[in-house]
Amino acid sequence: MKFATRAIHEGIEADKSTGALMPPIYMTSTYLQEAPGATKGYDYTRAGNPNFTVAERQLAALEEGSFATLYSSGLGALSALLSSFNQGDTVLAFNGIYGGTFRLLDKVFQRFGLHYRLINGEDEGALAEALDKKPALLLFETPNNPLLGIHDIEVIAKQAKERGVTTCVDNTFATPYFQKPLTLGADIVWQSCTKYLGGHSDIIGGALITNSREWKSKFDFARMTVGLNPSPFDAWLLSRSMKTLPLRMEKHAQNAGEIVSFLKDHPLVKTLYYPGMPSHPRYSVAQKQMSGFSGIVSAEFNLTLEQTKKLISSFKLFALAESLGGIESLVCHPSTMTHASIPKEKREEMKISDGLVRFSVGLEDIEDLKKDLTSGLASC
Ligand SMILES: *Cc1c(COP(=O)(O)O)cnc(C)c1O
Repeated sequence: MKFATRAIHEGIEADKSTGALMPPIYMTSTYLQEAPGATKGYDYTRAGNPNFTVAERQLAALEEGSFATLYSSGLGALSALLSSFNQGDTVLAFNGIYGGTFRLLDKVFQRFGLHYRLINGEDEGALAEALDKKPALLLFETPNNPLLGIHDIEVIAKQAKERGVTTCVDNTFATPYFQKPLTLGADIVWQSCTKYLGGHSDIIGGALITNSREWKSKFDFARMTVGLNPSPFDAWLLSRSMKTLPLRMEKHAQNAGEIVSFLKDHPLVKTLYYPGMPSHPRYSVAQKQMSGFSGIVSAEFNLTLEQTKKLISSFKLFALAESLGGIESLVCHPSTMTHASIPKEKREEMKISDGLVRFSVGLEDIEDLKKDLTSGLASC
């Protein structure tokens, strides 16, 4: 079955007792046992729930993996993964990982003796040298935030595999609709379902997807043991939303492309970041591993901090908020929001200047979005 068909049908079965075409929401913490230990596959919702199972079947099918485990948040999923390692193990990650990923490694797991090391993922020598040290996990994100850098999943996963290193790719920005890391050699896909998979800015959720039965049982163990389960209602909303993922992603990417064309020649724009632009330094890699370029666009404006703040507060449709991937357009200012905890010099070294703005392009009519940008920019 093709992607759009899988998105609608996978995991969905009519309810046997009532014929309800859509799965009911199983708001239950526990399950009746006919004799001690005689369950119908579920005993306590921290460990499992029919709504989790439906969403997991969908997630696995969309990522072309065999198994998925659903969690309370993207970071809940990462906590589950990291809790599977041992004291003295090292996680190798690339500069530019999501701020919350860094914080979890640096402020929590490091205290328990799980080390981490950050390298420049584009430096092939540094990568080979770091992989030779046999980290327990290689973790990276592509496209990454907020500059939409691209890493070659196939090349990197192969290098890791040759050294017996497990690779996990954060596929939140691309979604399985545009990129399938498991088919490119990654061992684990990590998703923040809060973003495009949920898609309506109304739930927090996360998932890990894999082809390995061994990893799947570790993921389930961690959810139950650490207590990282989502609510059945959130799982149900996620299931419902994933059915329209193909339609939404097509439109997000189309609208983002239009915003790129609009901003490309604007006199106030200094640099534009979008993996679908032939001028992107990794355009050929993006083209090779992605079937579309998703809906996030970043732009560095020739504006001071004050002017940039004024600009992004002046929009009527692009709502000033953290997060991304919802049907409504959002705008964020990395240097004072998502990356505020990084010192200014370091931030500028990372090219996260005060004039940098990240757009999560939504599904509104493109003419209205362009008008919003036009009037905001005219006021600068
Ligand atoms: C939001 C996000 C996360 C964390 O997910 P939560 O659901 O917020 O816990 C991880 N990676 C990326 C790329 C994200 O955008």
